Amino acid sequence: MTYDKIWLSSPHMGNNEEKYVKQAFDTNWVAPLGPNVDAFEMAIQKYISNEVHVAALSSGTGAIHLALEILGVGQGDEVLCQSFTFSASANPIKYLGAHPVFIDSERDTWNICPELLEKAIKDRISNGKKPKAIVAVHLYGMPYKINEIRKISEAYKIPVVEDSAEALGSTFKGIKCSSFGDIGILSFNGNKIITTSGGGALVSLNEVYKKKAIFLATQARDDAPHYQHSNVGYNYRMSNILAGIGRGQMEVIDDRVAARRANYAMYYKELSGINKIEFLDEPKDYFSNRWLSCILLPSYELREKIRLELLAYNIESRPLWKPMHLQPVFKNCLNYTNGTSEDLFMRGLCLPSGSNLKKSDLELIISLIKKILL
Ligand SMILES: *Cc1c(COP(=O)(O)O)cnc(C)c1O
Repeated sequence: MTYDKIWLSSPHMGNNEEKYVKQAFDTNWVAPLGPNVDAFEMAIQKYISNEVHVAALSSGTGAIHLALEILGVGQGDEVLCQSFTFSASANPIKYLGAHPVFIDSERDTWNICPELLEKAIKDRISNGKKPKAIVAVHLYGMPYKINEIRKISEAYKIPVVEDSAEALGSTFKGIKCSSFGDIGILSFNGNKIITTSGGGALVSLNEVYKKKAIFLATQARDDAPHYQHSNVGYNYRMSNILAGIGRGQMEVIDDRVAARRANYAMYYKELSGINKIEFLDEPKDYFSNRWLSCILLPSYELREKIRLELLAYNIESRPLWKPMHLQPVFKNCLNYTNGTSEDLFMRGLCLPSGSNLKKSDLELIISLIKKILL
């Protein structure tokens, strides 16, 4: 018997994406920029906060690259980066010729540990090398320790790039993620909570940062009748076609968050009674979009047994992110660790979490996990 594939997180279109894309064709706004880009940026702004400024870009990775450059990161600088994350949080540090210094996680949110972060800052300063920026991540949609990280950032005057690629719709004390850091970034990659098939955005309370981002993202062209350039630029702007998809997706974002949270609630209800399984609860004042529902198993072996059993039924699940300080590509980078992210990586599994999952899909997944653990 063959089973239809159940994806970890697949695109889920609403009703109006095609309409906005068709409008772009009908008006020949196929070239970069145009009304869909403006409207998409406005929709994101309205959703996050009226105070923020938004630049729609070609990817979340590009947004991190621009954010770091705008905050002054350059050749030879050090940048503190959450180790427990997807590689796109760290790669742009390398694009700029800078050096990532990886910081391990704490247990309450699985994100960057404030104590280790401060220890690393003191240590690097005593070595004569004050870090230029902090990349903190709301992994799987769970906000990092907002107040603690902000306090450290302010005390040492080191700006924060808030990687909210996985956290559109998540909040802390009712305030939306991507508006806490000096610069926030979003991703609209294919498996994120909403998608433009590929895209990202830079978000900031500081309008100057948005202007700089757009300048750099459009080849850094000076104000002159001919093409004149005083800076190295990039081609990172979002196209008007893809922004049309984004406009439609922003109309359904609340439904998407609710559906992902409902998946998590169902897994929690059915599996949390099995004392071998751990979940990541929301601390007080935290609201996660539950982009991916994650569980911890008692051992690597049980984690793999479940993953392979699901795979046999054509169900995609995925180990939690492998920490950056354990990645071959970053093996020569400094790190400050406490064992947390390595433990999460060994025992953790992301379960199918799409907003378009069927109830019968969830029931099958839950029954397969129960079969192994009960
Ligand atoms: C997806 C993701 C990114 C990168 O976004 P892209 O749009 O795919 O370039 C960055 N950071 C994290 C944590 C992500 O999950």
